[in-house]
Amino acid sequence: MGVELKKPWLKHYPEEVPTTIDYDKRTLQSFLVENAENFPDKVAIHFMGKDITFSEVADSAKRFASYLQELGIEKDDRVGIMLPNTPQSVIAYYGTLLAGGIVVQTNPLYTERELSYQMKDSGAKVLVCLDILLPRVNAIKEETNLNHVVTTRIKDYLPFPKNMIQPMLQKREYGMVVKPEHGGDTHVWTTMLEEASDEYVEHNIDPEEDLALLQYTGGTTGYPKGVMLTHFNLVSNTQMSEKWLYKTEFGKETILGILPFFHVYGMTTVMNMSIMMAQKMILIPKFDVDNVLKAIDSQRPTLFPGAPTIYIGLLNHPKLNKYDLSSIEACISGSAPLPVEVQEQFESVTGGRLVEGYGLTETSPVTHSNFVWQNRRSGTIGVPWPDTDASVFDPNTHDELEIGEVGEIGVKGPQVMKGYWKRPEETDQVLQDGWFFTGDMGYMDEEGFFYIVDRKKDMIIAGGFNIYPREVEEILYEHESIQEAVVAGIPDPYRGETVKAYIVLKDGAELTEDDLDQFCRKNLAAFKVPKLYEFRDELPKTAVGKILRRKLVDEEKEKMQAE
Ligand code: AMP
Repeated sequence: MGVELKKPWLKHYPEEVPTTIDYDKRTLQSFLVENAENFPDKVAIHFMGKDITFSEVADSAKRFASYLQELGIEKDDRVGIMLPNTPQSVIAYYGTLLAGGIVVQTNPLYTERELSYQMKDSGAKVLVCLDILLPRVNAIKEETNLNHVVTTRIKDYLPFPKNMIQPMLQKREYGMVVKPEHGGDTHVWTTMLEEASDEYVEHNIDPEEDLALLQYTGGTTGYPKGVMLTHFNLVSNTQMSEKWLYKTEFGKETILGILPFFHVYGMTTVMNMSIMMAQKMILIPKFDVDNVLKAIDSQRPTLFPGAPTIYIGLLNHPKLNKYDLSSIEACISGSAPLPVEVQEQFESVTGGRLVEGYGLTETSPVTHSNFVWQNRRSGTIGVPWPDTDASVFDPNTHDELEIGEVGEIGVKGPQVMKGYWKRPEETDQVLQDGWFFTGDMGYMDEEGFFYIVDRKKDMIIAGGFNIYPREVEEILYEHESIQEAVVAGIPDPYRGETVKAYIVLKDGAELTEDDLDQFCRKNLAAFKVPKLYEFRDELPKTAVGKILRRKLVDEEKEKMQAE
């Protein structure tokens, strides 16, 4: 009874989902090795027309591990991986773990400055990247601990002509297209795998203490920090996910891999989930609506983790009806609020389920989600996952608040990080008494469902009123002509901040500021109605499709300073 009162969400758990799980205390890589032994010929990866089996992935990962050890990689040494979703990104990840190393995921779009900072901070000794990125890596190598660079090409795994991969090689995307010279401290993927043996030294790893990953994030302060995630953090989060999606079967599912693996969300929900559950993953190296629709139509994925902007992008494709999307059974959307309109449309188009979830890099990432097949509550992030506790706290004092009160959401559970790499002070600010303070503002209702109203720092204060952008955005998304909308608080000399909405219209739609003003006034209290509107062709986004509200605010500030 006491627990029910404190955790009202537990009473909504379907019979099939356990409230607590006996997690495997094993390393991530042990699942690859075991599945390759049990199902050697099962397809692990489908990549641009080519199938790669579990035994091929495991064999290459072992060779990669052995080569890394020859290069001097020892237990707990860091290895950077700077790749789009390709077979190499999976092999390098599991190979690093087999060698006893710690993976440092790096965005291939990083500038020299960002890459240099991350390599220095993590102390990575080896970096794996596309060969077209080598000039960028060489430019910063001297100032870091990088001793070796491994280069690979998209076409290393392609059975077909170059013209199909040309978009990947465009200058605009990945920098200069050059033919780098190999040799010295630079190693070529294909030769390396051929030369390496599959014998590597197995280190003794404590899954609860030893790190699998350093995942960089801005966290609540915005300054990039390495989140330390252990094998147990990542294994437990995947096993929660497996229980949550209880209708899915071991070895029977196909998972669509659009979310990049260099972000924790795609890494856990697509890559680790596929490897641990012996599923097939379809790798999509770059988000392109046409290619995604074609992949769904031909490869028939059953699971499709994504972000709202991805689902919105598909729904707005002019030839959507041409494709058969009926294989999709379950999708959990994370990263940003999922507009209810989008959820409903997507479900009616595919016949599958799309529910909103929530998480952060610091929590491996998932802490909350709606139930997939019953008891869901749209417009909420759902309820805490098995073994996960959550509550709402005063953002300044960290005192626990009452049901319904808005405050900072705190979470506790096996998926919560060990801390920030080499930053004890910042770790102490967010990890207290076993609680991790998320920096997100929200509340819990009587039934135990959680609502995110905004991030601590995204709250707009205009003329003394608190305005939560999400509430205004939900209204804008209800307008039939709007494809995407984001609301930000921009500096205002009189009101402190003022509400501005950035709008992307649907193809062919026309709308004026006056129309929008009238529409918002009908639906929102006057103080929440945007005072300014800007129509754009697209909005700035992160790699996982989260709209960069802060970037828009910074642009406004720069404009004001220039005036
Ligand atoms: P990241 O560490 O990059 O995964 O970003 C985590 C942040 O994404 C969280 O702190 C939230 O601000 C945001 N986020 C994730 N899921 C949701 C959601 N369903 N609704 C609103 N914000 C979300």
